[in-house]
Amino acid sequence: MRRAYRSIAIDGPSGAGKSSLSGQLARAIGYLHVDTGAIYRTVGLAASRRAIGKEDAQAVAAMLPELDIQVRYGPDGGQRMVLDGEDVTEAIRSHAVSEWASIVAAIPAVRAFLLDTQRKLAQSHDVIMDGRDIGTVVLPDADLKIFLTAQPKDRARRRYLELCQRGEQADEEQILQDVLRRDRQDMERAASPLRQAPDAVVADTTGKGREESFQLLLKLVQTHLGEVGGVGR
Ligand code: C5P
Repeated sequence: MRRAYRSIAIDGPSGAGKSSLSGQLARAIGYLHVDTGAIYRTVGLAASRRAIGKEDAQAVAAMLPELDIQVRYGPDGGQRMVLDGEDVTEAIRSHAVSEWASIVAAIPAVRAFLLDTQRKLAQSHDVIMDGRDIGTVVLPDADLKIFLTAQPKDRARRRYLELCQRGEQADEEQILQDVLRRDRQDMERAASPLRQAPDAVVADTTGKGREESFQLLLKLVQTHLGEVGGVGR
């Protein structure tokens, strides 16, 4: 029996363009975009605001029951993150919060805490969900799994340009080192490491611009899911 809602899982390392491409794709085919990195970032922001030590996994786990984290959607379909009643959608994009997100994401209690939130969204909407463990853990029965990747240098360059655009101080070489470190953290952690699902299709965006990357993904969706939201007819 076909499930009521369809889901597309997009996993891959940071800076491969998952969030922006998933958002664009979701708008094109009328699915809800769930950026799970934003949810981990929100937990990371909460930990940073409580001045918890970066090694103190117990204190992070102890804070979880106190958190009110909500995933909301604006009229444009854009995902908004709300932490204890405050819209933190922009605040979670800083470099410092990226580091914290990666730290809290390695804590099993945090992953267990967020699992339900992610699955519930997929039970009530057609979703494109992007993250690190969507195809392997969160939605193992997704209708299509894409592993979106690009060479580290390309990914660092994109992150650098993104930070510059937001007016943050950025050093490209430093960002490359951070990208490599976060890749290691994401791939080597014991709890739901970043891994390509055996049944995922690889999409490599190295050297590709935004539009070309988008077309690559759109084609994969059309090939695997056929007609979706009026696209592919
Ligand atoms: O994708 P983004 O860079 O916003 O994710 C922030 C951090 O959250 C990543 O470094 C990763 O460690 C973590 N994450 C995760 N699992 C997900 C999504 C994000 O571990 N499904």
